[in-house]
Amino acid sequence: MTGDHLAFGADRLVVMAGPCAVETREQLLSTAHAVAAAGAALLRGGAYKPRTSPDSFQGLGPAGLELLAEASAATGLPVVTEVLDPRDVERVAASAAMLQVGSRNMQNFPLLREVGRVDRPVLLKRGAAATIDELLHAADYILREGNQRVVLCERGVRAFDPATRYLLDLAAVPVLKSRSDLPVVVDPSHGTGRRDCVVPMARAAVAAGADGLLIEVHPAPHEALCDGPQALLPEDFSALMRDIDTLAGMLGRRVVRPGSRSSATAP
Ligand code: PEP
Ligand code: MN
Repeated sequence: MTGDHLAFGADRLVVMAGPCAVETREQLLSTAHAVAAAGAALLRGGAYKPRTSPDSFQGLGPAGLELLAEASAATGLPVVTEVLDPRDVERVAASAAMLQVGSRNMQNFPLLREVGRVDRPVLLKRGAAATIDELLHAADYILREGNQRVVLCERGVRAFDPATRYLLDLAAVPVLKSRSDLPVVVDPSHGTGRRDCVVPMARAAVAAGADGLLIEVHPAPHEALCDGPQALLPEDFSALMRDIDTLAGMLGRRVVRPGSRSSATAP
């Protein structure tokens, strides 16, 4: 599915939300319905997970893609999901409206070239130790293959203090905007790794001029197979969406809703 939900840029704010990983049909569908009801524009969930340890849950793979397609049909939300391997790009693009290239793959040049050749917008996440320059060069690899629909994502960088999982670099938003016309979204979930920091930093990201947010939501975070400590409960996500609406109004912006009309151009 494509269309208005993917209308990043200008005065619009696009909120992508869902579980870190697709775990079960019930978990995905309940999260998808909850984030749709709260006003998210895209459902985000991983079928292929880039895990630090090979012993950790790696995602459901193709079965996860099928569940994402089912959740998309059930809610009307287009899906954004990560692709890890250049050989899977076509298969993932068949189930998803937008492809995510994760931070660990920001400089996987064969993957960047491959997603540069498909007709899908690409969410390109900043590497945890990547400079702004390196992120923009990574985007160039995609753009150069012909795909102009690249969305940059600040998701925190590695720093000295373990108080948060990463250090969310909100100054990256205005800096990227001064250097590029590409939309910039912020992921406060990975950027802090802490549920109690996600809402304040999401609000701050909107105030800093972000074009969208990526928020992890899980119906039972303590049971999550991946990233539970940073997942919002559905009701917390709903409350955040109300805040975002208020902030957007103050800033002359509007939150993209499923089905809302827009004269947006790509991405
Ligand atoms: C994710 O989005 O679930 C993810 C693994 O993020 P990152 O690539 O930023 O670590
Ligand atoms: Mn995650």
